[in-house]
Amino acid sequence: MKFVNYDIVFQEVPDETTLAINISNCPCKCNGCHSSYLMQNIGEELNETALNQLVSKYKKNITCVAFMGGDADVQGVMHLAHWIKNHYPLKVAWYSGRNEISANFTPQWVDYVKVGPYIKECGGLENPHTNQKMFKVDKHSNNFVYTDITKQFWKKHL
Ligand code: SF4
Repeated sequence: MKFVNYDIVFQEVPDETTLAINISNCPCKCNGCHSSYLMQNIGEELNETALNQLVSKYKKNITCVAFMGGDADVQGVMHLAHWIKNHYPLKVAWYSGRNEISANFTPQWVDYVKVGPYIKECGGLENPHTNQKMFKVDKHSNNFVYTDITKQFWKKHL
């Protein structure tokens, strides 16, 4: 699994300051993809060492780490999410381009998960017509509860 670039962002996860890492080799092939370069298998290896270098550099300024993509290696993303939870007191988000949450998703390591391919006419999460959804993942007793928080992206429209 490789990443191409990263940024500190404020809109991708509600109420979090997020280190968003853009993962390449995306298999989703959305019609109208806004970041077609991410469909190529390019960039630097995203492993524990590279992740630690990034997170340790920005840990004082962020509350969340978001894996943007990684549908070609969900188990790899979940491994790194687990690694973050073991080493930093940070939230973890995962942006998937699939319609459904992967069977390889492990909710104990992830606080937010976004699903849905990008459809140009529907727009992204900030568009009230979007097909995409973001869920907050909480543990209640021994169960994981998924709460749809997509409407939080529409504040400026409400
Ligand atoms: S999920 Fe869709 S929009 Fe995002 S990089 Fe992959 S193909 Fe492009």
